[in-house]
Amino acid sequence: MMFDSLQRFLFVRYPIRGAAVILHKAWKDSCQGHAYPTEIDNLIGEAMAANALMASILKFDGSISLELRNSKCLPLLLSQSRSNRTLRAMAKVECLESYSYAERSADAQLLISIEPEGEHRYQGMVNASAESLSKTVEGYFLQSEQLNTKLINQIDSNFSLGLFLQQMPETDQEELNPFSEDIWLSLQKKIESIPEAKQTEAFASLSALIAYIFPDEPIHFFQEENLRFQCSCSRATIGKIILSLGVEEARQILKEQGSIEVRCDFCNAAYSFGESDIHTLFGHKTI
Ligand SMILES: [Zn+2]
Repeated sequence: MMFDSLQRFLFVRYPIRGAAVILHKAWKDSCQGHAYPTEIDNLIGEAMAANALMASILKFDGSISLELRNSKCLPLLLSQSRSNRTLRAMAKVECLESYSYAERSADAQLLISIEPEGEHRYQGMVNASAESLSKTVEGYFLQSEQLNTKLINQIDSNFSLGLFLQQMPETDQEELNPFSEDIWLSLQKKIESIPEAKQTEAFASLSALIAYIFPDEPIHFFQEENLRFQCSCSRATIGKIILSLGVEEARQILKEQGSIEVRCDFCNAAYSFGESDIHTLFGHKTI
């Protein structure tokens, strides 16, 4: 199996689309250097796979992010995926105790932000399902878009696989047969019978796996795409964060520490702003 790839597809006979994603390096690169507990590491893998699948249906340049808030001992888990097929994710972990997903998600919400480039962003929020993050994403699509969605995730120490089926919006259906609840249920059942992780990994490609899951269905496959980790942080974006502190606080930190050191929550890159950098940043305001 070729890791870090995305395969979009359409059922030829029904107004149902699908996508599959398998992450290895993009996921591992996101977690590198953070020393997250394995359980959080896996939750990040699941979030990134779901996020890449959601980005695969965007029809514009931009990004989509998935933010799990107020989980027990995990105030924030944030994954971002761009239409150029890049991904990044981070988590703020408050304690290292182990909890089940149901315990963690009891008071949690999932916030989805869709940001077309240069336009206003759209946000929607749902309460987290106690079952899984994937179930929560399904709930989001049903609530906000009225689209039946099935999302499953398979995590192995080596990869995070996501499989996604969705009823197509009416405007995209053209001359297909109408959406049928019976067919939807039978396709869902098939996707739930995905082989074990070891077997999944042995398939030559995602399209081979999909063809195996739906042996009787004519499927149109789009070209397989590559995914990779990329952090969008830069001195300019970190500069904006320092500006938001205000000149008084920046002056105080400079006085106490000699410089302002900021580490990116996603990629761990370190940025250092000395006195002259801060002076340039705040322009006319005296530091
Ligand atoms: Zn970064």
